[in-house]
Amino acid sequence: MQREARLNAKGYSERDERRILDALGRGLLREFPNPDRTGCPGSAVLKRIASHEMPLAEAEKWLDHLTSCSPCYSDFSQFQSGYKRQRTRTFLAIAASVFIVISIAGWALFFKQKGPRVVQTAVLDLRSRSIPRGTEPNPGEQPLEVSRGVRYLNVYLPLGSAEGPYEVRIATTTGRAVFTTEGVASLKDGVTSIQTVVDLSSASSGQYIFQVRRANSEWNSYPLMLR
Ligand SMILES: [Zn+2]
Repeated sequence: MQREARLNAKGYSERDERRILDALGRGLLREFPNPDRTGCPGSAVLKRIASHEMPLAEAEKWLDHLTSCSPCYSDFSQFQSGYKRQRTRTFLAIAASVFIVISIAGWALFFKQKGPRVVQTAVLDLRSRSIPRGTEPNPGEQPLEVSRGVRYLNVYLPLGSAEGPYEVRIATTTGRAVFTTEGVASLKDGVTSIQTVVDLSSASSGQYIFQVRRANSEWNSYPLMLR
């Protein structure tokens, strides 16, 4: 059973292969010169045995000859080393593609692991801010800071803000919106907050205005530094 498991498709086990090599080795040791190549199977057969193309059952009948013919051993050795080189090349090609796959997987893993380390959620805490009415932020107000890579905004609205639908907008200092979304504010642990998905990847870093308002109300504006 175990022996069968080790057989390759053509029926050679490692043991069989050793047997062939031993037989050939003995053939060489006995030094059977055969200048007329009497009874030789011919190079085509030797090649097929060396490359394992010939089923063992078929190769068996040549083993007696190979144990007693030095020229055949010599030919066979050459064919076999050629076959082994080819196997080595195939192995290296497979190894190379495996290496590439592992490398790609490694990179993917690297970026995947790197992902959570980047702060993906930005908290914009407006609770202690004065409430600026209008599209212009209060002068002298410390800018909020957000990385362009963030995926989520968590906006803590000023204390006492009502729950319900809000609009959130990030605009340039000239008033052009680069990001607009809507969110529903809810009260939790005394804080009214809005969670929203954000995509600022196409905006360049610099000064912006962060704006938030209840539907159909006036904007509240805050200076924002996009990094
Ligand atoms: Zn021969």
